[in-house]
Amino acid sequence: MTQSNINLQADVLIIGGGPSGTWAALRAAEIGAKVILVDKGYCGTSGATAPSGTGVWYVNPNEDERESAMKSREALGGYLADRGWMNRVLDRTYANINHIANWGYPFPVDEAGVSHRKSLQGPDYMKLMRRKIQKAGVRILDHSPALELLADEHGVAGATGLNNQTKETWRVDAAAVVIATGGCAFLSKALGTNVLTGDGYLLAAEAGAEFSGMEFSTAYSLAPAFSPVTKSAFYTWATFYYEDGRVIEGAGSQRGRSVIARTLLKEPVFARIDKADEVVQKAMRQAQPNFFLSFDRLGIDPFTTKFPITLRFEGTVRGTGGIHIVDETCATGVPGLYAAGDAATRELICGGFTGGGSHNAAWAMSSGYWSGEGAASFALKQGTLASQRNARGLSEASGVPTVQTARSGATDTQEIVQAVQNEVFPYDRNWFRTGKGMQQSLQRLDQVWNELKQGLQATDGNVIRVREAAAMTATARLMFTSGLERKETRGMHRREDFPAIDQNQHYRIISGGLEQPWAKPLVEVDKQAGVSHLKEAAV
Ligand SMILES: Cc1cc2nc3c(=O)[nH]c(=O)nc-3n(C[C@H](O)[C@H](O)[C@H](O)COP(=O)(O)OP(=O)(O)OC[C@H]3O[C@@H](n4cnc5c(N)ncnc54)[C@H](O)[C@@H]3O)c2cc1C
Repeated sequence: MTQSNINLQADVLIIGGGPSGTWAALRAAEIGAKVILVDKGYCGTSGATAPSGTGVWYVNPNEDERESAMKSREALGGYLADRGWMNRVLDRTYANINHIANWGYPFPVDEAGVSHRKSLQGPDYMKLMRRKIQKAGVRILDHSPALELLADEHGVAGATGLNNQTKETWRVDAAAVVIATGGCAFLSKALGTNVLTGDGYLLAAEAGAEFSGMEFSTAYSLAPAFSPVTKSAFYTWATFYYEDGRVIEGAGSQRGRSVIARTLLKEPVFARIDKADEVVQKAMRQAQPNFFLSFDRLGIDPFTTKFPITLRFEGTVRGTGGIHIVDETCATGVPGLYAAGDAATRELICGGFTGGGSHNAAWAMSSGYWSGEGAASFALKQGTLASQRNARGLSEASGVPTVQTARSGATDTQEIVQAVQNEVFPYDRNWFRTGKGMQQSLQRLDQVWNELKQGLQATDGNVIRVREAAAMTATARLMFTSGLERKETRGMHRREDFPAIDQNQHYRIISGGLEQPWAKPLVEVDKQAGVSHLKEAAV
């Protein structure tokens, strides 16, 4: 076993310090666990929530409001969400947001004295969460990506990684681990997603965990062509144009994104936010100041001037697929391993569609809370010697390259990243899917996988990319394998060869495997406990 520069022990290790990871850390510490949290970036500023304003699914606990909140997204999600889980998340989110208010988060208060709690400013929220977990005694390792899980015959037992700045290696032995590494946006440059490369999926897959809803991974968001800010909601007030100034009919409708994607395949598309009056314009600047930064820098007024737009890929970040969870504690089925936030499946509350707008934030804080509680209870039951199990890294068995096995002369990580992006970015491969197209993408991704298994090097010196490149490849293969299994159009999964929803496919699809990715249907068999138990379909 290679010696690490930093060797630590904890009851619970949290990997990822966004909203889900910090809520997990806080809850685990509250119930008496010794907790370490590692983040690839700086916890409090890293990940998808930290730089943006975030809508939250905060709904008053009265029957009518709750009913319409649940109903609002069911059709969009292809009726795959579960009301038991929705209710749980609504309750937990309501309680958590009220905690945040009590801790001093400055929710706006109107003239009637009512505090408005349906959105959070990412920088303030995450700064507060960092302070809370530090106060609760959680030790934070910043700039310290987890690169490999540790395990023995009893289950997962910690992780190892590297400090990106000092280059010191670290090892944390822990009786339970929560994966809260966010989703995978494939380095598309969407704001806040540069750290979201699917690392947690790779770690979980190496431990034998399964995935759910990976076909619902085709989130693309509107952005100015010159900016990483993918705040799509503002385009509700936009008109879309061809280069010659003609209006693109249907681009502003509910199916408008598809119209825009089809147009972008042939020619540039322009937008102007010309339906926003002065009051709305002012509110926009207040809600999302960073949306306007690149406009201001370029001297463009988006309310009066047309600007080029693109649809930037956000993969599973605003998709719904992720690590399959098997019970209310967000356990993965692998002993000692829990998952939360975007790293875990969000199908339970969103079905096959989110696109952002509140459910994700609610899921992150709720699943974070439950996974922290579950992991801590599991760890505390194991007793004091649980974190001293002489566990080994899981990548040796999987054969997936690690930072240690990187070698000069091998394929460069940049080549792998580019090859994966070539399959997942293009609208004609991933937005408008066909069986044939996905088969072809999978064949090419299989070749990429075989190539990376021979070894990788990072000529730019960024050795973290070795694992990121492998994680992105594994994620893309799970996406297309699941996409092939769902032979219909449902939620955000759009099949050109099966353009309608098929009632016979009203089930979730689980997937797994690194060497040989697989996918198969699940059916809900028992809703009596209020929370569904999912079981393999008898097909
Ligand atoms: C532009 C944009 C706008 C959005 N707006 C909304 C909205 O209005 N409402 C809403 O509900 N949702 C919204 N979402 C989605 C929401 O941001 C996410 O659902 C939420 O951030 C998920 O929280 P998380 O903690 O799971 O992941 P993140 O917030 O992404 O945090 C993941 C953390 O894991 C760390 N990490 C990654 N890999 C490793 C590793 N190997 N080791 C250690 N740490 C690692 C990262 O550094 C990061 O800190 C938006 C997303 C985007 C991109």
